[in-house]
Amino acid sequence: MSSNESAHRFSYLCHLECSRCSRLYDADVPQGLCECGAPLLARYDLDSIGEATSPTEIRGRQPDLWRYHELLPVRSPESVVSFGEGMTPLIPFRKLGERLGLSRLYMKDEGLLPTGTFKARGAAVGISRANELGIKRVSMPTNGNAGAAWATYAARAGMESLVVMPVDAPQIARAECAISGSRLYLVDGLIGDAGAIAAGAVANQGYTDASTLKEPYRLEGKKTMGLELFEQCGWRVPDVIFYPTGGGVGLIGIYKALQECMDLGWLGPKVPRLVAVQASGCAPIVKAWEQGAEVSEAWENASTIAFGITVPKALGDFLVLRALKATDGCAIAVDDDEILAAQAEVAHLEGSFICPEGAACFAATERLLKDGWLNPTDEIVVFNTGSGIKYPDTVQVQVPVLKKGESLPLD
Ligand SMILES: *Cc1c(COP(=O)(O)O)cnc(C)c1O
Ligand SMILES: [Zn+2]
Repeated sequence: MSSNESAHRFSYLCHLECSRCSRLYDADVPQGLCECGAPLLARYDLDSIGEATSPTEIRGRQPDLWRYHELLPVRSPESVVSFGEGMTPLIPFRKLGERLGLSRLYMKDEGLLPTGTFKARGAAVGISRANELGIKRVSMPTNGNAGAAWATYAARAGMESLVVMPVDAPQIARAECAISGSRLYLVDGLIGDAGAIAAGAVANQGYTDASTLKEPYRLEGKKTMGLELFEQCGWRVPDVIFYPTGGGVGLIGIYKALQECMDLGWLGPKVPRLVAVQASGCAPIVKAWEQGAEVSEAWENASTIAFGITVPKALGDFLVLRALKATDGCAIAVDDDEILAAQAEVAHLEGSFICPEGAACFAATERLLKDGWLNPTDEIVVFNTGSGIKYPDTVQVQVPVLKKGESLPLD
């Protein structure tokens, strides 16, 4: 072998594989869905990764998600479009845990990422790879946060973006898209309606479809939530992971990370139970789970304050359901009033202003403990997928206004 062949590569991406029919695709040209309609998954040369690096070597790298570059699809460091995203903190929640009766409760806080949500992970890797493949224009429907993240990273990459979101999506996302120079449209409907409109840009205006799971690399970015968590746990897994599930990419990504790390021998055989949390106003995955179905049905009249998980029908539903089954996990829905109560409680007890989607997970821990599904001593990690700062309207504030010179009322 020449020295060139033995040299370490930045990425060990081999090909793309259909998640349903296993058909293989070339990873070095832009690809969308498999011809059978299912999402494509990036596959890596894990044997060579095992020879090229190790958890010990990774420990000394930069604290961002690119520390896992061998397991990411970007072939050259020059293609990377980054704001230093990743390595979000894993925070013990002792006071909330005590109140709930859980002795080992942790929150992984994705609210610290650029643009304030974990969508930055998918955008960082998705845009970097699109950049590398020579793509100049991307379009997508969004519930707000993905659009904001992709518009931001696209601007940094010098790419054009087109975003369509529901009028009811959090207002801040509009501002983020607009100031980044994205072509932004609002639709009087839900994310599926936005998707139908964005599809026109793909068909007629030369945009590449960056919708959830319709290109293979957003998932790879979200996978890093799992890689980081396992590394932060000392290359082992917690007992249970709670994840607020809309399109399900995060959960599918965490499960993919788990499988890759097990295949690499970086993790032992223990599997964390994965819990998909939805809002009772839009719970297609929960319904399918309870019925033992392999796919979900479109949810009618979807509505919840946890806007990021308002996804009536997810393309990757079967992958989420598979991951829950394979890990002995479950799916659970919580009401909006439980979500708001959990959001307030986390802020009071732990000082963290989390997003309603993350709050849904804390509400779910309480339910599953009461049901006996959780043990009080389980090691539990909740993913807070975004900052509460992006959802100022979830808090009703009543503040006394004082006249100039007026003295404070007694405490
Ligand atoms: C998009 C989003 C989710 C759901 O993400 P998926 O991984 O697609 O299920 C959860 N929380 C927030 C804040 C989001 O923006
Ligand atoms: Zn297929």
